Amino acid sequence: VLLPLPLTGAFDYLCPAPLSDLAPGDFVEVPFGRKTLTGVVWGHARGDVDPAKLKPILAKLEIPPLPAPQRRFTDWVAAYTMSPPGAILKMALGGQAWKPFKRKPKGAGTPASNPAAPPTLSPEQAAAAAALTQKVTQGGASVTLLDGVTGSGKTEVYCEAIAACLAKGQQALVLLPEIALTTQILDRFTARFGTAPALWHSDVSDSTRRHSWLGIATGTTPLVVGARSALFLPYQNLGLIIVDEEHESAFKQEDGVFYHGRDMAVARGHIGQIPVVLASATPSLETLANVESGRYDRLVLPQRHGGAVLPDVTLIDLCAHPPERQSWLSPPLVSALTQTFADQGQAMLFLNRRGYAPLTLCRACGHRFQCPNCSAWLVAHQGPPRLKCHHCDYSNPLPKHCPACQAEGQFFACGPGVERIAEEATRRFPNARIAVMTSDTIEDSAAASRLIAAMEAGEIDLLVGTQIMAKGHNFPNLVLVGVVDADLGLAGGDLRAAERTFQLLQQVAGRSGRSTRRGRVFLQTLQPTHPVMQALAIGDRDGFLRAEAAERRLYAMPPFGRLAAIILSSPDAAILGHVGEALAKAVPATPDIRVLGPADAPLALLRGRHRRRFLIKAGKTVRLQNFIQTWLGSVRFPRSVRVQIDIDPYSFF
Ligand SMILES: [Zn+2]
Ligand SMILES: [Zn+2]
Repeated sequence: VLLPLPLTGAFDYLCPAPLSDLAPGDFVEVPFGRKTLTGVVWGHARGDVDPAKLKPILAKLEIPPLPAPQRRFTDWVAAYTMSPPGAILKMALGGQAWKPFKRKPKGAGTPASNPAAPPTLSPEQAAAAAALTQKVTQGGASVTLLDGVTGSGKTEVYCEAIAACLAKGQQALVLLPEIALTTQILDRFTARFGTAPALWHSDVSDSTRRHSWLGIATGTTPLVVGARSALFLPYQNLGLIIVDEEHESAFKQEDGVFYHGRDMAVARGHIGQIPVVLASATPSLETLANVESGRYDRLVLPQRHGGAVLPDVTLIDLCAHPPERQSWLSPPLVSALTQTFADQGQAMLFLNRRGYAPLTLCRACGHRFQCPNCSAWLVAHQGPPRLKCHHCDYSNPLPKHCPACQAEGQFFACGPGVERIAEEATRRFPNARIAVMTSDTIEDSAAASRLIAAMEAGEIDLLVGTQIMAKGHNFPNLVLVGVVDADLGLAGGDLRAAERTFQLLQQVAGRSGRSTRRGRVFLQTLQPTHPVMQALAIGDRDGFLRAEAAERRLYAMPPFGRLAAIILSSPDAAILGHVGEALAKAVPATPDIRVLGPADAPLALLRGRHRRRFLIKAGKTVRLQNFIQTWLGSVRFPRSVRVQIDIDPYSFF
């Protein structure tokens, strides 16, 4: 019996006579220590445990068994991510969602009623929809990139594939990044299919969660829309997976089980022999490499649906047009905003930095406020002025006196966050109605819906926000987008920095002018000649991607080589140092694999734990997992040292 615990393997139990018909996949209750746990029958015991020591299974739950593809998927993800299979099963059980289904549950989920007539599709959309529908109808494993510029109508196209899947009596899953904030798309699904999809993400209530889980497990819920964790739910009859915005780094989980939701979705499709659709306006290099090698198919939607044109992108060279002192909006951007408001248009200002200022210092002595638990500056937030750490829960009011020199009134806020941009906009445009959209102002999906509804209704003239704003919202009267610091994402030496910056800015730009009025986008940059800025200015996505791919290939970096990271952490820096050295000495000599490190992580202290990292670099076909298993297995780790394995890392902090 596999239990939802991060422990190695399944446990052996006796099967009492009344339960002699138990089969793999059955949900059962078993004693574990002093507790009773729900687990899943995983197979026959090997018989190497003394039967006198075995305890009996207590009961079988009245839930349909976990289907074989979902069980194989659990084992596969565990092996790939080098995590205990119980940790994967825990995600399948969705917290406490299955409890207490001892009696036969009533059917959950609502059957479809009054679905809207399918929308009229453009010829390009219709062709793509027909190709996807055919794959769904035929069944079998396939991966298709649905590649279309923002506003080209990808959702309508994959909705046709969903309709075909539901018509076959199978379940469909749509994975979305940061789904809690994506309310508009849910309304579209509800209208299209005549029934609300089951929602699955960390913010849904316990009762909704139970209802959704049960409908998924019994097969009565046809359509599920969820965050990456929805992939692990116990689908009775899954027939199609859509990964929307497949390039988004929000699909990567970097906590507990380290996995990439898109890559795991592809594996799930292969194991279950079902089609997977990856949709994006700015596909990842990983996906494009798979298209080029012929492993994935590609469908292209070249135009904006309904005749809307892509926005005009202008680079503002901040050296040539510097903002005034202690201001962040350059004269050309200010005049564009003035003109937009005069013409009754809406505007957005984008800065991917929460809070008021990223650093506060004392002018008298130079003291900089740093988090006591992390190697990171504290970020100033407005309201009553507070200093917050963006990596841990540390938060304190700004003190009256400098803690280093006791000076009063000498604090100086360095640089802008979105709150400071909103302050400047309020000063410059006192009559404009301005709202701020960040994870600090949007606590839940209801707050997000209210803000989006206000923007749609024209009750907001200027929305100032972080990348939260970049997501699929559709504001017809939005005609101007200003990117305050287009260079921000390029700093930091991250492997995917340029790619991610391009994707993010392209997404933000895509918010503009989505109906009949032509949108304008202004990018403030200190590096107007940088390939990312040049590609954005002339709209040359493919040229940018070709150049980026050539560079990665040259250095054998993903997707043309493989990476894994080992992150060691401990509250004790000395012990951590010893373990790092011992591991470095124990690296097995293996052709085609290089181990770099240990090095202090860029966040060398995080939540009170010191951190050191190894990076493992290998050829595309190397089985990194076997190498890591052998290597780590040769060293004993003290209890205080935590070892995290990140296969295919996306963050390097
Ligand atoms: Zn001071
Ligand atoms: Zn901190």
